[in-house]
This record gives sequence, C-alpha cells and structure tokens, in this order.
Amino acid sequence: MTGNFFTICSGFYISLLLIVFFYKKRLETVENKIYSYLIIANFFGVILAIVSYLVVKRMDIFGFFCDIVTKAYIVYLLLWITLFTNYVNVITYNSQNLKPKALKQKYKKSFVTCGIIFVICLALIIVLPITHINTKGVYSTGASSNVVYIVSSIYMLSWFVTIFKNFKRLQKLKYTPILVYMIFGGFVLVLQRLNPELLLFTSLETFVTFLMYFTIENPDIKLINELNIAKDQAEKANNAKTEFLSSMSHEIRTPLNAIDGFSQLILEETDLKVIKEEARDIMTASQNLLELVNGILDISKIEADKLEIINTEYEPHKVFEELAKLTQARIGDKPIEFKVNIAKDLPEYLSGDFVRLKQIVINLLTNAVKYTKKGWIEFSVNIVKKNNICRLIISVKDTGIGIKKDNIDKLFTKFERFDKEKNLTIEGTGLGLAITKKLVELMNGKIVVDSVYGEGSTFTVSIDQKIINKNKVKLANVEIKEDKKLNIKGKKVLIVDDNLINLKVATRLLLTYKLVTEEVSSGFDCIKKIEEGNKYDLILLDDMMPKLSGVETFKILKKDDNFNIPVVVLTANAISGMKEKYLKQGFNDYISKPIDKKELERVLKTYLN
Ligand code: ADP
Repeated sequence: MTGNFFTICSGFYISLLLIVFFYKKRLETVENKIYSYLIIANFFGVILAIVSYLVVKRMDIFGFFCDIVTKAYIVYLLLWITLFTNYVNVITYNSQNLKPKALKQKYKKSFVTCGIIFVICLALIIVLPITHINTKGVYSTGASSNVVYIVSSIYMLSWFVTIFKNFKRLQKLKYTPILVYMIFGGFVLVLQRLNPELLLFTSLETFVTFLMYFTIENPDIKLINELNIAKDQAEKANNAKTEFLSSMSHEIRTPLNAIDGFSQLILEETDLKVIKEEARDIMTASQNLLELVNGILDISKIEADKLEIINTEYEPHKVFEELAKLTQARIGDKPIEFKVNIAKDLPEYLSGDFVRLKQIVINLLTNAVKYTKKGWIEFSVNIVKKNNICRLIISVKDTGIGIKKDNIDKLFTKFERFDKEKNLTIEGTGLGLAITKKLVELMNGKIVVDSVYGEGSTFTVSIDQKIINKNKVKLANVEIKEDKKLNIKGKKVLIVDDNLINLKVATRLLLTYKLVTEEVSSGFDCIKKIEEGNKYDLILLDDMMPKLSGVETFKILKKDDNFNIPVVVLTANAISGMKEKYLKQGFNDYISKPIDKKELERVLKTYLN
C-alpha cells in the first residue's frame, strides 16, 4: 500500500507538471523534446503503475490482464530510462562546443544505440515470464521484470562514465537531476530488489522529472544566461577601457610635463611680452588637456564601478579652510568679493572620504570663479547634527552668468557646456559637474541647483559624515603648511626618471631654486648612487620605469635601516586616489606630473628648508 500511496501522489504532481510545461512557452530544442516525452511517459507510467497494482491485487477477477498490464508497466520503466539516458547524452554533447554537424551525428548515434537496446529489451520483456504476487504485498516478479533492473544498472553505469569524463562540467545545474537519480536510483534499485512490494521507481522518476523542469533550457534560463554572458563581456570591455585610459593618462602626462615645465621656465626667464603671453597660453592649454584626461579617467572609473569611497578621519575645518585659500588664490585680481561662512559648531573630527569631498567642493568653487566676472562668491558650510551623524550642507553661491532654466536638467550630463559663444574664453571640459554629481551620489548625498540666468547660481550639496568623538586621532594628511621663506640654496637633490626630457624639466625647475641636482635614469642607478655612499637631501623618484619601478626601488632602499633620505614620488600615475596609495607605501610625499610649481615649492619647503 505504501508504494501505491507514493504513486498516487506522483500522479498528482506529474499531472500538474504536464499542464504547466505544455502551457508555458518552451524552447524548441532536442533536450526539451526529450523532456516532453519524459513527462508524457511518466504520466502514463503512473497510470500503469496504479492499474497494475489494482489488477494484480484482484487477480481473481482480472487474471487475464495481469500479464499485459504489468508488462506494459515494465515497458514504461524501460522507455523512461532509455529517454533519460538520451537526455544525459544530449546535454553532455551540447556542452562540448561541437559543430552542428558533429552534434547531429552524436545525437543520432545515441538515439540509434538506445533504440536498438530498447527493441531487444522489449522483445525480452514480452517473451520472458512474469509472476504476480498479491499475498505478501502486491507486485510482479520474474525474468521479464529483471530485464529492466539489468538495463537500468547498465544505463546508470553509462551515466557514471559520462559524468566522470565531463567532470569539469559537473557544476552545471543540469547535472543535478542526474546525480539525484544516480544516488536515489541506486538505493531504490537495491531496496526494490529486496522488497519488490515497494513500488518506488515511478515516484522517483516523477521526482527527477520534476527537478529537471527547473534545469532544462527554458526561455527564462536562456535569457538569464545570455544576460550573464553579456554582463561578463561588458565588464571585461569596461575593465579594458579603464586600463587603456589609465595607461593613456600616463602616456599623455609624460609629454605634458615637458610642455608645462618648459613653458613655466620660458615664462620665468624671458622678458619679452609676446613670448611670455604665448608661454602662458601653452600652459593654459596643457592644463586644460590635463583636466580633460583626469576628468575622463574619473568618469570612466565611476562608470565601471571602480571608484571606491574611502572613509578616513579628518579635520573638516582644515579641509574647508584649505579650499577657501585655494579659491581666493584662483580669484586672483578679478573684481570678486569672496565670502566664507563656515559653521562655528562644525565637529572637530569627522569620518568620510575627504579627498572626494574636496574634489566636489573644488569643482563647484572653480565653476563659480570661472563663470563670475564680477560681484561676489559665497562659500558656506552649515551643519545639522543627529546622534553621531553630521550633515554637511555646503553651498556655493555666485553672481555670475547664471544658467538658463532649460539647461538646468542637462547640467550634470557629460560634455555639456552652455553659452558657448559667451564663454569662448573660459576653459572647461564639461565633465566637472557630471563627476561631482556621481561623487555626491556615491557618498549618499544630494546636490541641488538654483540659478537665475544673468543673475547668478547657487549649488548646494548635502552629505552625511560620521562624527568622531576622540581626543586624539591619527589624522589624514590635510595639514596646511605654514608659509616659510625658502632657504634651500645648495641642497642636493637626486632625480630619478627614465624619460630624459622629464629629467631635464625637473632639473631645470630645481635649478631655479639654486639647488644642486644629480640625475639618473633608472632605479638601479639610484640604488647604486646610495650604495656608493653619495649623500642627498631629497630624492625625487619616478614610479613607472621599465625593469625596476619606483615603488620597487624605494622598497630596496628602505631595506637599509640607515637610509633616511626623504623620498618623494614624482609620477605621471596621477589618477585620483594614487596620492593616498603612494603615501601608504611609505613615500614621504607625492608630486604629480606635469609638475605644479606650487606643489614643488611646498615639497621643497617641507623637506629642504
Ligand atoms: P566645465 O566648467 O568644465 O565646462 P562643468 O561640468 O563643471 O564643466 O559645467 C558644465 C557647464 O555648466 C559649464 O560649461 C557652464 O556652462 C555651466 N555652469 C557650471 N557652473 C556654473 C556656474 N556657477 N555658473 C554658470 N554656469 C555654470
């Protein structure tokens, strides 16, 4: 009775499966065709199992049908296992990346072999005797039913070989039903042989058919697979793009360093007005190109989800004061009043990505300076505190050219610049605000714009930062160095760079400070100089050099405990976040190429004064 109970339940499930499978949209594949035969076979198999049970139980009435019905049931078992074996073969061939013609031949071979076995076994089942028992349990036994046991065992062995040969593909979901069948099938085979009254095979087959429904190729799975492949390809392409852009940035920065450096020197050394003006134009153009390279890199990093927000502890007062100072310097002698209002109750320490925060505010302040001819610019920082969170509300207000209502929506789109006729002389890339918005969003903040065309604009950013209530914290490097007079004449600097023009630029720039310089063009030569006992007050070390990089050179130098010369990395590898990376590796400081003279002076003051 137990066996029949399972069979009745299976009947219920297979009927449902039959309806669902044939009702839903299917893919017309060989695999699915075999699967549809498996469902139909199992459905009739369940009916035959129940009918044979009833017929054998009432052998006294249905004696004549017993042989026919039970043998029909055995034929079903044979048919199901044959179809399933074909299914195993087909999914294995499908995963072997065969050409269509070879694939077709393989299918054919499998169908023909299984077909021949089926016909032979069918003949044996018909011819061989069967005995029916309804005293101790209800079942049929005999040589005829043994045929199915033997064939099932052989088929299972063949699946085992197939799986073993295709072990790598085993993770594939599709093999789960086969493994389930092999594990339970072997178990049921033994159990059923010992207790023939337990009619478990049909139920197991229903269960496996049911499982297969979730693993066969269906439109949803196919779509998901295709999407996954497309996603992988897009990710690969994006990575390649980011890699290409960062090496391109390095390559562009290297000649730019020479253009910028020599223009600076010409500007300082010439008295001719025309030449001075042209040198200034060259510098502006190279600065603009640099800004463009940085912007493209940043945006591509953000779009490739590669830009990480790195939270560290910082002193917000110092950050905002530094930004105010920078803006004041940018305004220069433009007739613009610069008002700064920083909340008095700003917490002493906050935790957040202050590098990105600075980038956001600099973008807004730079735009205000760029697009305001006269009047005033107001930079204010207000806060709202809640528990340990401090919401920074930063606004930059100007009396500049303003933005037309229609353009406000397009403001944060890449490469959008407005009023081009009016702004002919204002350099820009149209990337600043697109990056700003993405950065603000990455920091879970908000940015809003309010502008009246012809009157001015207000950009307001709100970002939450964590309040740090510590007395003493290890601070990030946001110190503003006190201005000291330069007194560095005669100090000795070693410059290491594989690019000879860049070596020349750095040397010429340092000579304007009356420093004594030595140049080498590789990390090996730098190490040699130190090992020979040469003394320097500072080393400027390029990073991206062939054979031995600056970082590797630095590591070797550091191995000597007595080595105490400050080493500043001087690199074209200047994408955002690199400075922090180099400082983490132990470099004393960082200067990006093209060399910004103010930055160079800051470094010289810090390490040579
Ligand atoms: P860029 O300034 O390099 O052109 P942005 O993305 O920073 O690029 O700005 C996009 C455009 O938005 C600018 O070209 C300018 O037309 C407009 N814009 C940005 N800020 C202001 C501002 N404060 N006042 C007026 N127009 C602005």
